[in-house]
Amino acid sequence: MIATYHNHTNWSDGKTDFAEIHAAAIAAGVDALGVSDHFCVFPDGSSRDWSMDPSRVCEYIEDIKSYQSDGRIEVRVGLEIDWFTDHESVIEPRIETLDLDYRIGSLHHVDEIPFDTCFSPDKEEDELLEVWKRYWKLEQNLAESGLFDTVAHIDIPKRLGYFPEQALDREISDALDAFAAHNVVVELNTAGYSMPCLEAYASPNILSKCKEREIPVTLSADGHEPGRILYEFERGLSQLHAAGYRELTRFRERETWFESIDEAYPEQAR
Ligand SMILES: [Zn+2]
Ligand SMILES: [Zn+2]
Repeated sequence: MIATYHNHTNWSDGKTDFAEIHAAAIAAGVDALGVSDHFCVFPDGSSRDWSMDPSRVCEYIEDIKSYQSDGRIEVRVGLEIDWFTDHESVIEPRIETLDLDYRIGSLHHVDEIPFDTCFSPDKEEDELLEVWKRYWKLEQNLAESGLFDTVAHIDIPKRLGYFPEQALDREISDALDAFAAHNVVVELNTAGYSMPCLEAYASPNILSKCKEREIPVTLSADGHEPGRILYEFERGLSQLHAAGYRELTRFRERETWFESIDEAYPEQAR
């Protein structure tokens, strides 16, 4: 079973509608296809143009679910939901009754400032370190909200070229302890291989720390177009294997179960 859950359509910032992603997934031999379009609501209630219009989320869910009767592959519907500090009172009422297969918690800002601004490489070293510390606190806060089944691209600020992991051991450990305590699945997101950091999210070091805590994982490409839904999956599988992972997480109606990597990907079994 090839399952991929973190993908985008033109309900948010993906390039095509779901019909094209669905057809590409069938052609590529995918067994379970999930989409997780952006659902961004700032603390003041505003959204952004790369997010779906939050008031149309039920139409989005209906659109994706309409493909479930096709029956050729499993179709699952999720949301990539932006998190801000102590954001429960804004987000929970908007998502609690939604008929989702999984909720992805996601950070694209620190203190409401987009990553591209707050992690810009021309900043001073100690300033960048401070923002990274704030970032990991926010990841911990996201996990402790208890609202999410999984977390997107856990160390994504590194994509801009600065990743001081060693100095952040304590902050990273605190965040990962919170993921373990709240049963939040971590994804290996292969989109990072094509970014300046040249690494998937999470890094090998962070993935090993996840394994030490027995935090379950998924494998996704964060595809924004039909040709990218299985981007670098073999490389991702190698990284998961190297970290000691032998199972991937599956989602349906916010229930999880696990599938052996070697059975899901017999050709890559090693
Ligand atoms: Zn994202
Ligand atoms: Zn995404």
